[in-house]
Amino acid sequence: MISKIPKWIGDLLEKSIGPNLTVLEIVKLTPSIKKIRFQGDISKMKFIPGGASVARVSDTEYRNYTIAYYNIEKGIVEIIFHVHGNGVGSQYLDSLKVGDSALISEPRGRNQYNPEVKQHFIFGDETSLGLACALFPILKQNQHQFQFYFELDEENKNVPELLGLENVTVFPKDDSFKSEKKVNGLPIFYATDWLSANYILTGNVKSIQTFRKVLKRKITGKIFSQGYWLEGKKGL
Ligand SMILES: Cc1cc2nc3c(=O)[nH]c(=O)nc-3n(C[C@H](O)[C@H](O)[C@H](O)COP(=O)(O)OP(=O)(O)OC[C@H]3O[C@@H](n4cnc5c(N)ncnc54)[C@H](O)[C@@H]3O)c2cc1C
Repeated sequence: MISKIPKWIGDLLEKSIGPNLTVLEIVKLTPSIKKIRFQGDISKMKFIPGGASVARVSDTEYRNYTIAYYNIEKGIVEIIFHVHGNGVGSQYLDSLKVGDSALISEPRGRNQYNPEVKQHFIFGDETSLGLACALFPILKQNQHQFQFYFELDEENKNVPELLGLENVTVFPKDDSFKSEKKVNGLPIFYATDWLSANYILTGNVKSIQTFRKVLKRKITGKIFSQGYWLEGKKGL
């Protein structure tokens, strides 16, 4: 996706891209994870499970964020974001205050949820918590079997629980998911009844690539993977 466009085109697009939403509430879950609740007229927006919106984070730059929760009647959307401090998007969202307005597009993306599949396995990191929150109620309501695996910084290891997620395994973010040998040893591969599950991999590109490579050798189910960020790369 294009993460940078000239300001004058951005200004023109602003009218058609989506509504200006207002920051209603900010919850600081840890020093590096925030949940922001926005409010505005979202009645014309279409939502898909785990869809991501584009936020205008400077005059010229745009970044992707997953809609973790929405309520069309109340005009509410929520985003959970990682305050990593390295980029304009993270800095912009971190600077927002209650009452500020923000440009958030209609969410889009491929629907990763297949109601026909009984078991769903979701892997990611801090950037994937919004996706997990979007999918969790659907998985639960439709009585799927599901498991979340997250690689998280030490200070964020309790966030899945704070968010009310269930069936979660947290791993330290120590590059284990970049090692094929370590990924091979994950408990999921010892559960033979999970080999035909749907696998949704998001978060760090290198972790996903390694995980996907190992999964392809081992499972029969479908793999959906989408890198959310890559070391040294702006605006993935
Ligand atoms: C479909 C999709 C959905 C996404 N949903 C979310 C979401 O709900 N919440 C969320 O927080 N992010 C989400 N992301 C990831 C987010 O768009 C990226 O992290 C983006 O790079 C952040 O922009 P930035 O301006 O802060 O950093 P950039 O300017 O893009 O990057 C600057 C530097 O920061 C590094 N960097 C970027 N992200 C991280 C990170 N998470 N941790 C450490 N270093 C990083 C880059 O490698 C680069 O070196 C999503 C991405 C995609 C593609």
